[in-house]
Amino acid sequence: MKKSASQETPLPNISLKDIGGLPDEMKDEIQQTLSIIKDPKRAAQIGIQPPKGILLYGPPGTGKTLLAQAIAQEIGATFYSSSGSAFTELYVGVGASRVRTLFQNARKQRPAVIFIDEVDALAGKRKEHGGEESEKTLTELLVQLDGGNDNDGILFIAATNRKDMLDDAFLRPGRIDYTFNVPLPDANGRREIINIHTKGRMLADEVFASLDTLAESTSGFSGAELSALFETASKRAIRDGREQIAKSDLDFAIDRTILGSTSRALNDP
Ligand code: ATP
Repeated sequence: MKKSASQETPLPNISLKDIGGLPDEMKDEIQQTLSIIKDPKRAAQIGIQPPKGILLYGPPGTGKTLLAQAIAQEIGATFYSSSGSAFTELYVGVGASRVRTLFQNARKQRPAVIFIDEVDALAGKRKEHGGEESEKTLTELLVQLDGGNDNDGILFIAATNRKDMLDDAFLRPGRIDYTFNVPLPDANGRREIINIHTKGRMLADEVFASLDTLAESTSGFSGAELSALFETASKRAIRDGREQIAKSDLDFAIDRTILGSTSRALNDP
């Protein structure tokens, strides 16, 4: 089912500390950006305008949604979250009207973050995108992003796995001011993410002792996959009446993740 495109979305209690594996320069830039947003007067004194739009791009499951939620939480903003596909409709004008309603709703609840995941479905290159309906929807998005003072207190955050597909007009500064690459984590990053996702879980001693090796050996795993590992291992331990995650649970979860059938295995054991 399509997510409602214009309703406020409850924010989980999340902060930047809950996101592992982000490059240090990126964390610094995000912190700087947040301080500009939190104290726009001071920023204006040194000639810096608060950003209107941020683009997060990178492979699936690397924490782009988490980052948008953490930013919203950090600046005390109401969160409006939807997916680009919620604006793609057959009937001309429907998508554009949803974009308008989304911005109108958010303007009533400032400060607000409008987050659009898979923004390529909405802001794809015009000539490849095709169709009168998509053209109208994108044009409406550009109009809303250009809202001037109407957009004070509104931060637009978009995420995509396909930055190359995005229309240049959408990416223009003033619409998108900062672009952050959210990459797959390296071994240190994976270790940080493993720490985050093992917090509060009971691990057998030999599992605990093997976490450094796990971080080393999971090259190419995203944060979402690492999180799924421990979720799967926990479920299997519970299913088999164990109070701690055993090595066999983790090995099972690794196999399932590599095979890409984690959910099937657990939903239908
Ligand atoms: P997509 O591109 O598919 O929309 P995404 O980049 O937005 O993915 P998220 O939805 O933020 O990824 O991540 C899904 C889940 O994976 C998170 O709720 C979290 O449990 C875990 N996760 C992903 N990345 C990280 C990370 N860097 N640190 C900690 N947990 C992470």
